[in-house]
Amino acid sequence: MTALTGRVSIVTGASGGIGQAIAESLADAGSSVVLGYGRSTEKAEALRTSITERGGQAVAVQADVSTAAGAAALVKAAVDAYGGLDIVINNAGITRDGLFMRMKEADWDAVMDTNLKSVYYLVQAASRQLLRSRYGRVINIASVAGLMGNIGQANYSAAKAGMMGLTKTLAREFASRKVTVNAVAPGFIETEMTASLGAEIKARLLEQVPLARLGQPRDVADLCLFLAGDAASYITGQIIQVDGGLVM
Ligand code: NAP
Repeated sequence: MTALTGRVSIVTGASGGIGQAIAESLADAGSSVVLGYGRSTEKAEALRTSITERGGQAVAVQADVSTAAGAAALVKAAVDAYGGLDIVINNAGITRDGLFMRMKEADWDAVMDTNLKSVYYLVQAASRQLLRSRYGRVINIASVAGLMGNIGQANYSAAKAGMMGLTKTLAREFASRKVTVNAVAPGFIETEMTASLGAEIKARLLEQVPLARLGQPRDVADLCLFLAGDAASYITGQIIQVDGGLVM
């Protein structure tokens, strides 16, 4: 028996760098995991295979998180496969960067829908199961961009800041049912999302990070594992940074 034995989780964006690490951590701790993904079927299936080969339980579900139907499909998969739902990790996210004065409405909307409205859809769809669980955990993967802003990321930083406000309200509304709601705000983490940054930009970013390295997906996953477990039952409504000291 491990820390999350018998718990059922949904991780969105499980085909991406951070989502994969979170899903692996939860599965290794004994949780059954619904691996939500958008387009990367091969990556999601490879992750499902590696989790099950290690003795864990996982199903991969293609579901567009920016739609109500996608959220409903993820919750249905959890209930059908594992009989309930305890832990929701809202991790799927995109960037559509550009200076604000030239930012296209389509890029604003895409980032809002994928990074913020997705949380509305999935927590609404999951709320009955979570409240019934009397254990529930919601963990929203935000970003330091939502705290400090970032040139070229008006849409992204607004969505991530919105996620933080939503986290605090949900924490208050769900507290009486023992459901905790927290946000994790990563700094610069080495994944596909940051892979396209040039060497010069990366070097400049690192100058601002006291711990002087990019974060790894595992750094974020370790905090999510803690927040998903019993040891974090008295923590709710918090925004916790995993950023090497970038924002303090
Ligand atoms: P990533 O490797 O690019 O992965 C993004 C994930 O989101 C993929 O699994 C992708 O699925 C999924 N996704 C995107 N749009 C979707 C949609 N409409 N429906 C369903 N899934 C969708 O990014 P990452 O670096 O792991 O980022 C994960 C989260 O951490 C994001 O919310 C991001 O904003 C946040 N974050 C990252 C950093 C960083 O430095 N990397 C820093 C702060 C915060 P498919 O590939 O299958 O389409």
